[in-house]
Amino acid sequence: MKEELAPHVSDITRALGGKVSEQEIEKELASYLNVYRVSLDTAKRSIVKKHGGNPAGLAVGINRTLRELVPGEQSVNLLVRLVSVNEKDVTPEGQGTKRILYGILSDPTATVPFTAWEPLNLPLARGDVVRVQNAYTKEYRGQVQVNFGTRTAVMREKPDALPEYKPAPGTGLPYLGKPTPVRIVDLREGASNVAVTARILSTDSREVEVDGAKKTVFSGVLADETGKTQFSAWKDFGLKEGEVVRIEGAYVKAWRGIPQLSFDDRATVTRLPGDAAPAAETLGGSPRMWVEDLAERGGGVDVTVRGILIDLREGSGLVYRCPECRRVLRKGACRIHGEVKGEPDLRVKGVLDDGSGALTAVFNRELTEILLEKTMDACIAEAKEAMSTDVVRDELSDILVAQPIEARGNVTSDDYGLMMIVDQAKLLRVDVQSEARQMLEELEGGAP
Ligand SMILES: [Zn+2]
Repeated sequence: MKEELAPHVSDITRALGGKVSEQEIEKELASYLNVYRVSLDTAKRSIVKKHGGNPAGLAVGINRTLRELVPGEQSVNLLVRLVSVNEKDVTPEGQGTKRILYGILSDPTATVPFTAWEPLNLPLARGDVVRVQNAYTKEYRGQVQVNFGTRTAVMREKPDALPEYKPAPGTGLPYLGKPTPVRIVDLREGASNVAVTARILSTDSREVEVDGAKKTVFSGVLADETGKTQFSAWKDFGLKEGEVVRIEGAYVKAWRGIPQLSFDDRATVTRLPGDAAPAAETLGGSPRMWVEDLAERGGGVDVTVRGILIDLREGSGLVYRCPECRRVLRKGACRIHGEVKGEPDLRVKGVLDDGSGALTAVFNRELTEILLEKTMDACIAEAKEAMSTDVVRDELSDILVAQPIEARGNVTSDDYGLMMIVDQAKLLRVDVQSEARQMLEELEGGAP
């Protein structure tokens, strides 16, 4: 195992310009692969990103097995056999008719449908073995689909370059092998074939449109003693609030910037006795997490972060929003709707640093009013008198900047970093003051 990983350890070290030692990378890579159970590709990219590098600098390619793929991957390399190839004409909205290829790919681990949206650099026929570079994946009717786009290159290989796909005896399931038990706190985007034992805290369903057809996604929140996660089931498993289940063969995918547990008809759901997971009341807590770990996970549901609010970002304080689209106005104008009569709102966008990293914490009007101990109307009156909204921002800055704060909420992750939509917040300063007061009282009490 160690020898197999050596070229990838050097690859990561090189992509990071040697600023992190090979030993450290080796340790991190082992933990991503063995503890978080993400694919080698995801692990490499995550480590490079975590240390501030660019994953595009990675040079040693990895062929993925079809079984490992999850929806939403941007660049995958595959060695596959074409089980079937068909042509059809489609008319994408706003474009002329074009001919696409579709069919089924296989490798020794699974079969997966594919679509080639652009003309390929070589003709494909049933039975061909090909190396595919820069394909991407999507969710199609609740299953992974491989797509070939403009950046995708296809090279023909000898037919004996790849053994034939043989389904596991007795099952048609694309996942082979035993699923890996993972605690909710350890779920990482890109993990596949995981097993989670958890209590269902809530259920919901939503309609999505897949290829013009309506499909129901069964969603909700699951929890174990380490944390909570949202889930999406692409098949109706009849999940009910309060029951304890073991879900095997699930994968982890980000939805609206937060990693969540997804599962489809490849998964099995087993009902467990009610005492197989802690009671719902004790699962209501919000685990305290480090920003560094949230960055590694790609966000989290209902987590608590403690840190120092080191700065207010632009757009904090009294703002005016477009009545049409709710965007914050700049100089009285909306980026989309031009000059409009803005509606007032109050918010804080603060940079919260806990020593391991920083995130943007967004406090809504209600929380900002509590922090200011002042209503929005009072702020509007103040701004009118001062003829500038800066006065509100300055006041917030005086109260918040350099203060220790505990914030609880959902954390999303995108290209701009982590953002917490704060549900609850408290200034820890209050505790420090009361501690100081208490100490003073004790000192005074002890004085003659
Ligand atoms: Zn607007």
